[in-house]
Amino acid sequence: MEYIKVKGIVCKITEYKESDKILTVLTYEKGKMQIVAKGVKKKGAALAHAARLFYCGEFECVCQNNMPILTGAAMIQDFFGLTKKIETLYYASHFMDLCSYFIQEEQPSNEIMSLLLNTLYLLMRDEGDPMLLTTIIQFRLSAIEGAAPVTDFCVECQKPLDDDCSFCFSIENDGISCCNNGTCISHAVFQAINHICNSDSTKIYFFSIPKSDLCVIFELSCRYIEKIAGKHFEILDSIKEIL
Ligand SMILES: [Zn+2]
Repeated sequence: MEYIKVKGIVCKITEYKESDKILTVLTYEKGKMQIVAKGVKKKGAALAHAARLFYCGEFECVCQNNMPILTGAAMIQDFFGLTKKIETLYYASHFMDLCSYFIQEEQPSNEIMSLLLNTLYLLMRDEGDPMLLTTIIQFRLSAIEGAAPVTDFCVECQKPLDDDCSFCFSIENDGISCCNNGTCISHAVFQAINHICNSDSTKIYFFSIPKSDLCVIFELSCRYIEKIAGKHFEILDSIKEIL
C-alpha cells in the first residue's frame, strides 16, 4: 500500500456517501488533488477538523484503488479567521478559485502555493488593502505562468520605455504601450506592475501606491488575469459589488 504525505489547503468540499467527504486540496507536492475523508460527518470523528474549507495542514493518506484516503492531519496554519467577515471571505474565496484554476494535478506547485498562503495570511491579518492584495496575486500569478505583462519595451512600437514616455496598459497586446493605446496609467502603476511581476517573491508585497491609482491597477489586474486564463472568475463580480 502506498502512503503519501502532502502539505496544502482545502479549497473545496464535496459531500460523498452518508458520512464521507471528498476534499479538493491544493498541495505543494502534488498540485491539485482529491482526498477522501471517511466518516468525517459522524459525531466526534477524529479527522473532522481537517474536512473544512481553508484547513491548511499536512495530510497523511493511504492510497486505495488510486484514491488517497485521509488517515491523519496536522494543522500548519489556522486560516479560519478568513471566514469571519463576508468581504474577507469573498477575497479569500477568489484567491483560492484563481490558484485552483492554475494549479494542475500531479504537478509540484511551490511558487503558486507560497503566493496563495502568503496572500491569504496578509488578508486575514488585515495587513494590506484587499484590493492591492488581489492585484498582487493576479499579476504575480500571470508571471508564474510565464505570461507577465511586457514592461521593458512598448508592445506596439517596440521602443524601450523610459521615464519621459506617457504610459498606457494594453490588455490587447499584453503590456505597456507608449503609443497611447489602452488604459492610461501613471508611472506609479507602471512601476508597481513591474515590481509585482519581476521582483523576488519575498519582496512583492512591499511597495506603496497612491490611493487614486488603486482602482486602476486593480481593474487592470482583473482584466489581465481573465485574459490569461481565458475565463471569467465569478467571485470578482461579488467583490466589485461590495467595493
Ligand atoms: Zn510605443
